[in-house]
Parts: sequence; C-alpha cells; structure tokens
Amino acid sequence: MNYTGFKSESMTEKLERECPECGAEREFYQAASTELHLGEKTKWYCPECDYGLIRINGDIDSTTA
Ligand SMILES: [Zn+2]
Repeated sequence: MNYTGFKSESMTEKLERECPECGAEREFYQAASTELHLGEKTKWYCPECDYGLIRINGDIDSTTA
C-alpha cells in the first residue's frame, strides 16, 4: 500500500457555497455532525449571517437551521 497521497482533506470542516442570505459565496463552517441510519447528517453555518443548512451524505437536505 502506498499512503503518500493521503491527506486529511476529507476532514476539512469548511464548505464553500453561495449563501442565499448574503447573496455571495461564503465559507460555511460545520457546526454539528450526527450519525443517522441513512448516513451522516451535518449542519453548516454561514459565519456572516448565521444562515444554516443541513447536509446528509453530502447532499443539501434542507435550509432549516
Ligand atoms: Zn450568509
């Protein structure tokens, strides 16, 4: 096995995404992570306006904070 390409990029807790509140691209930060039977649910917040979004297994599931 060759692990030279291994990086902890998947562990990054930031998500670049357009914030509908700010109307601009923001670096959302991960506020919480929950293991569900259907996958991993993560909560993200815009640091500028506290707009929240939820991802499940990488898909944006809801805009409910
Ligand atoms: Zn925002």
